[in-house]
Amino acid sequence: MSKVKVAINGYGTIGKRVADAVILQDDMQLVGIAKTRPNFETVMARDKGFDVYTLPDRISTMKDAGIEVVGTIDDMVGNADVVVDCTPGGVGEKNKAIYENAGVKAIWQGGEKHELAGCSFNAETNYEEALGRDLVRVVSCNTTGLCRVISPLDIEFGVKKARVTLMRRAADPGDIKNGPINAIVPSPIKLPSHHGPDVKTVMPHIDISTTAVKLPTTLMHLHTINLELDKECSAEDVEAVLSEQSRVRFVGQGITSTAEIMELARDMDRPRSDMWENCIWNESITIYEGELYFFQAIHQESDVIPENIDAIRAMMEIENNGERSVAKTNKAMGI
Ligand code: NAD
Repeated sequence: MSKVKVAINGYGTIGKRVADAVILQDDMQLVGIAKTRPNFETVMARDKGFDVYTLPDRISTMKDAGIEVVGTIDDMVGNADVVVDCTPGGVGEKNKAIYENAGVKAIWQGGEKHELAGCSFNAETNYEEALGRDLVRVVSCNTTGLCRVISPLDIEFGVKKARVTLMRRAADPGDIKNGPINAIVPSPIKLPSHHGPDVKTVMPHIDISTTAVKLPTTLMHLHTINLELDKECSAEDVEAVLSEQSRVRFVGQGITSTAEIMELARDMDRPRSDMWENCIWNESITIYEGELYFFQAIHQESDVIPENIDAIRAMMEIENNGERSVAKTNKAMGI
């Protein structure tokens, strides 16, 4: 069977990682990447041998900066079976007409609204929903992290109620524009936060509410998760279920913070020190007065990357079984 032709529109934090993951898959081929500016990321894409596309009015700017452009974004879209839109949140929706006119399938990221695609995706939770679809949205890093744990615990014990506090990194490491530098910011102040409703775009039946604050760090989000379960269970029962999830990693052995998790990723020689899995302190898993509590850390730049690969496979129906796709993606990426 011929390989699925994948194009990446927007080559920043998420786009460059999705491109690198696509070239590791034996059932996918990277058509190229689209970039609007000739910055260091564009130079890196070129040096990796990727075909670079851009907007029609940027071709000469790229040329002046020494970047040979293969064509326009429209050309790239025309050469693809599926486009992964990794442009900044709110920009992606403007590209919908381009994809629809070209008759190509499209994946957006969590910065876009659910309604844009009509299907919000997490491989471990609702893979089947994306089978054969033309438009899919891979949910945000936080929502991905929450779905990965709430879904299996719901299947095993029934989740009556989920209450989550999200402590969010204020900016990505390469982002010089966002803050705060020295403050803790309730974000949003109006409660509950939008993260709970976002989980419901994947699992509508879950009673979940969330609160969120932004912290002056670039290293991961941290979630405090509190679940009321239908079935009585012990912390060991919960640990057993979570230990079976391939995109969940237990941390301990002197790891007391997100900084040490990032150091672990470096020690593991992970590309860009990415940590694709949810990192759960299994020591924190506690049943207190009948309710479950635990801490997990989420690497915002990378946890959604394997999910994008699985979304491509579901939409193209090259694998109809979610578990098999997850296993294939994990093997190719080294998860
Ligand atoms: P980013 O700013 O790092 O990268 C976006 C890229 O798109 C940049 O290279 C920018 O130059 C390019 N771009 C801007 N306008 C464009 C256009 N019109 N056409 C083509 N390219 C254009 O953004 P990001 O962090 O990678 O976020 C992308 C999406 O992924 C957003 O929806 C975001 O919410 C979501 N997301 C981000 C994270 C994260 O932590 N960074 C995590 C999960 C999901």
